[in-house]
Amino acid sequence: MMISLTIREGYEEWRQKARVLLRARIEPAEVLWDVEREGLFTETGEDEIQPVLGTPPGVPKEFLRLSRTVAHHSSEERWGLLYRVLWRLTWGKEKSLLARRTDKDVDRLERMAKEISRDIHKMHAFVRFQKVGVDQKTGREQFVSWFEPDHRIMPLTADFFRKRFAGMNWSIFTPTGSAHWDGSNLKLAPGVPRMEAPTDIELEDLWRTYYQSIFNPARLKVKAMQAEMPKKYWKNLPEAELISKLIREGKDRVGGMMETEERPARPLQNSYLTRLEQMSAKAAETIHPSDFSGQDLTRLREAALHCRACKLHEMATQTVFGEGPADATVMIVGEQPGDQEDLAGRPLIGPAGKLFDQCLQEAGLSRERCYVTNAVKHFKWKQQGKRRLHQSPAVSERKACQPWVMAELAQVRPEVLICLGATAAKSLIDPKFRLMEQRGLIEREDLAPRVIATVHPSYLLRVRDEDAAFQEKKRFVRELSLALL
Ligand code: URA
Repeated sequence: MMISLTIREGYEEWRQKARVLLRARIEPAEVLWDVEREGLFTETGEDEIQPVLGTPPGVPKEFLRLSRTVAHHSSEERWGLLYRVLWRLTWGKEKSLLARRTDKDVDRLERMAKEISRDIHKMHAFVRFQKVGVDQKTGREQFVSWFEPDHRIMPLTADFFRKRFAGMNWSIFTPTGSAHWDGSNLKLAPGVPRMEAPTDIELEDLWRTYYQSIFNPARLKVKAMQAEMPKKYWKNLPEAELISKLIREGKDRVGGMMETEERPARPLQNSYLTRLEQMSAKAAETIHPSDFSGQDLTRLREAALHCRACKLHEMATQTVFGEGPADATVMIVGEQPGDQEDLAGRPLIGPAGKLFDQCLQEAGLSRERCYVTNAVKHFKWKQQGKRRLHQSPAVSERKACQPWVMAELAQVRPEVLICLGATAAKSLIDPKFRLMEQRGLIEREDLAPRVIATVHPSYLLRVRDEDAAFQEKKRFVRELSLALL
């Protein structure tokens, strides 16, 4: 038997259908996903497939996480690939399949998940809003944005924008989904037809057609909406019922509302940069590291990109977050990014980082297996001639950043935690920590089974006397190697 079926509504629909297929022990090779004609399920219903062969073994949590993400990939192969991996994990008895990164299917899944995560990252960074008016009743400003992600990620990013721009009303339109926030409700709705770099006026018209239809019955333009948003999608909308009701009731209500409502102002052209600045100020009120504790590293990294908990973000090129395997046994915490790290967006890659890599190797540790991060995530500097000269972070800046590094520690849960230099030791171990007196193994089981405090590699670079430098480096390597005991 060959089964063909189309997934129209996304992950939950796939999951439901995959569950039925799996129960009936229908092998991946017997299923054709995403075929553009009515398939077995839509033609004859799921009852046609009988769950004759019992319950399949359980599915690892990791697969649920991966499949929820990969479901938003734009590739047509996604449903088939997900079902194949699901089959292998269950009936195929390959319980540890996901740990085999060299497997072709696993590798493809991981790569797709990474592509999604990059896309989310881009969307967080590049969505730009334009003001389209002010809500007459609430006085809240209305903003709209058009964005074209590579993947179908609107549902994965909407909550980020809700938190970041909580204080204003906004709509984001993409070709595969849209999201709307009115200060109390976040609504997801279908996408809109692809547009090329819409002008301010086109964006405003788009908003009039969709957003106002969704939240405001007085603006409902049935024809325009039907033309843009095929009826078949309406059944998937949480507000579908509302829309039909509004079409019925709309005319009656319009009269009453028109009296009290003014037409929103046209956007002020060229006020764009000012708006962005104002929005950054708003973000400062809403994005704070402590809001994100308990989230996984990908989400932490994304959120930290927009951190405004102290002023350092103003002078830095970007947030430099930690990197390395989420399940690393060794976590290393430096001070803060330097000039090169700030430009590249990666920790410990400049001169101190190079020396550090060399010492790590001499100590018998591999950097690829360590999670490397900093106590402070933004570069602090002052101009000297053409150079940007590193400045140590202030106590308040170290404290502002501490929730990020603590959240990273809580996610990685390493066997060994290594603090490089006083800033890291003060942030993680004790604000009163005296590095030169207390360096070495530290009893702090609440942080990690083994905690090591040692000097920062830049300290080694500053020791002028050759013999002393040699001795200091030896001691540093010895302290790093405490990680292996
Ligand atoms: N020093 C650090 O502590 N971290 C970096 O990322 C770079 C220099």
